[in-house]
This record gives sequence, structure tokens and C-alpha cells, in this order.
Amino acid sequence: KANRKFHPEDTVVDCGHGVSIGGGSFQVIAGPCSVEGENLLRIARAVKAAGATMLRGGAYKPRTSPYSYQGMGPHGLDLLMEAGGELDMPVVTEVMDPRDVALFVDKGVDVMQIGARNSQNFALLREVGKTRVPVLLKRGFAMTIDELLMAAEYVMSEGNPNVILCERGIRTFETRTRNTFDVNAIPVLHHLSHLPVVGDPSHATGYTRYVRPIAYAACAAGADGLEIEVHDRPSEAWSDGAQALTPAQFADAMRRLALIREAA
Ligand code: PEP
Ligand code: MN
Repeated sequence: KANRKFHPEDTVVDCGHGVSIGGGSFQVIAGPCSVEGENLLRIARAVKAAGATMLRGGAYKPRTSPYSYQGMGPHGLDLLMEAGGELDMPVVTEVMDPRDVALFVDKGVDVMQIGARNSQNFALLREVGKTRVPVLLKRGFAMTIDELLMAAEYVMSEGNPNVILCERGIRTFETRTRNTFDVNAIPVLHHLSHLPVVGDPSHATGYTRYVRPIAYAACAAGADGLEIEVHDRPSEAWSDGAQALTPAQFADAMRRLALIREAA
């Protein structure tokens, strides 16, 4: 179902609030790694002012250590939905447990994100596949492109055609960056599949200073959008502060992305 051979036209996924992804538009999903409290609305206003079209934030966090901050849970979803409602932006947030999918649907989450660590959690993929809520499916850090497409197939085979693929870096021998951004994946996925493809330069690099160049590379390679972590006080962020852009850096990135899009 994800294969372009059987579906030559690009899929356009309607994310709500008048925002669609795929088929030539360019959408930027931005916001903090974790929902932390009232700063969410402040950050959301700043990213919207800079041109972001969708709001991200994690209320359920897949942390490497069980002792790290795990997210705010249902209250975090409420804060996200309030901010998305106030700013008229679709909300993208990660679901980690098949048992939580119904709650996400009830809360009205616009796009359910499947994180890199859960991208082959087939029970979870099937569960989100039973809904019609758009799914942002991230590539696992040890996943081949064909495995990512098969993960999409799990969602789609349950009846949900609204899948957005995300390249967020893979694990290689390189240790200077958190992951290695596989820019190849963007044109390869577009060749093999009709689904929209977004790039996540934040998790791909792990460091603020590298986020903008990789965002530009993803855009130039033909990505249908980007997902970027933004925090107004990165040094105080509860997770992933080292890779957050400040609102000013994000606005700078948006200006240059517009130039790249214009030139293309
Ligand atoms: C995230 O987007 O916050 C996240 C945890 O990303 P990934 O699953 O790509 O590591
Ligand atoms: Mn993060």
C-alpha cells in the first residue's frame, strides 16, 4: 500500500486546521522536545510567528533511562491541545503504548507520532492503523529503508492511509553527532513510495549548531517538511536541550528555508 508502483500520485495527508503535507507543499513541525508547562504556549507562539505550521511536543517520552523525565502524560496532551486550538495549529505528539491510542484519539490529537524506538512495535503500529488519525512514522535508528516502508505497511494494512515518513538519522560508527542523517533516504523514499517524507535535523544531529545546515540539506533534497525542536531556554529544557534551536535561530532557519524553496 505504501508502494509507488501501485499508487503513482503523491499522497497528501490532511492534518487538520487546514494543513496538508505531501504533494509539493512544505510544512514545518516545531516545538519543544517535551511539554513542560506554560512555556509551551510561549514557544508555540514564537514558532508560529516564524512560520511553523504544526506544533510538536512530547507528553509521553521514550527516554533511554527510566530515571529520566518521562513526560507529563494526559495533562501534557491537554496543554498541547489547548495551544493547538488557540493558535489554530495541528498538534503532533508521540504515542508509545497501544493502550494509550484511544486516549490520544479522544483528546483530538491531530497527528500521532511513532518514535524511532517504537517504529517496529507492530502492536502499536496496528493500533494506530485502526484509527484514521495521521501517523508520523519515524525511522528507527537501525532500520533500513525497506523496513521503514514495511512498518508503514503495518499501519496502512489496518486501514489507515494517512502515513507520513520521517528520516531522523540512523546509528553509524560516527560519534561526533547523535545520529547520522541519511539524506539519501529522502529521494529514495520518494522514489519507492507515494507517502510524504519529512526530515528531523534535531534528533539526526543532536547539537544545535548542526541543526540548521541539515534542515537545509533535507529541504534541498526534496523533503515535504521538517520537524525541529525549539525551546526558549535550551539550557533549562527537561529533555534534548543540546539540540534545541532558540526561537531566534528557528526564525533564521525559516528565512533561509524559504530561499531554498524559492530557488528549487
Ligand atoms: C522526539 O521526536 O521527541 C523523539 C524522541 O524522536 P525519535 O523517536 O526520533 O528519537
Ligand atoms: Mn527530542
